[in-house]
Amino acid sequence: MKLLLVEDDQPLATALQQAFVRENYAVDVADNGASADQLLSTETYDLLVLDLGLPQMDGQDVLRKLRARGDRLPVIILTARSGLDHKIVGLDLGADDYMTKPFELSELLARVRANLRRGANQTKPTIDHGRIKYDTVAKRVYVDDQELSLRAKELGVLETLLRSVGRVLSKQQLAQHLYSFDDNSSDNAIEIYIHRLRKQLPKDSFHLRTVRGIGYLLEPPE
Ligand code: CA
Repeated sequence: MKLLLVEDDQPLATALQQAFVRENYAVDVADNGASADQLLSTETYDLLVLDLGLPQMDGQDVLRKLRARGDRLPVIILTARSGLDHKIVGLDLGADDYMTKPFELSELLARVRANLRRGANQTKPTIDHGRIKYDTVAKRVYVDDQELSLRAKELGVLETLLRSVGRVLSKQQLAQHLYSFDDNSSDNAIEIYIHRLRKQLPKDSFHLRTVRGIGYLLEPPE
């Protein structure tokens, strides 16, 4: 799961980023509205945590533009503006949830989980692929209803592959879904995750082709 955090208060942004990483989310951080808008138009996220009072472009405008593109990304607004008017404006613009500063970190994390769950339910919470069943909310993978124990990054690679059946994915594309842009990712690491997945998943349900010089292609199950 990858979050975008938009917050111009540097100490708060750093604290939240660390908290999200501890929860095993990949996180990108933007400190102004314009770069948030840019990231939201080019990258794929599972949830947006958005401050309203931002330099360059107000959070309300970021949200308005996001919804105008037809993007249904779950959005939690995080703001010092506590007036009811702001709350109504935010929800009218299509925010899913609203938290007023100061807030409890544990409550924000609970709301992140709830909104991710709701977001996943709008699409499909489980992916069935031959004998493989992947629960996108609980982040668990089953083969013939038997749970496999995979590491977080391996699960991330598997989820990306399962969402892109029949399409060639480059190592860079796989890495993009796995890491924040300031993480060090390497093609080598992706190869290791792929190697582990191939070892652990049944061959009849996990036909992963290596497309030389390009990347990987997961074939539809038999
Ligand atoms: Ca602010």
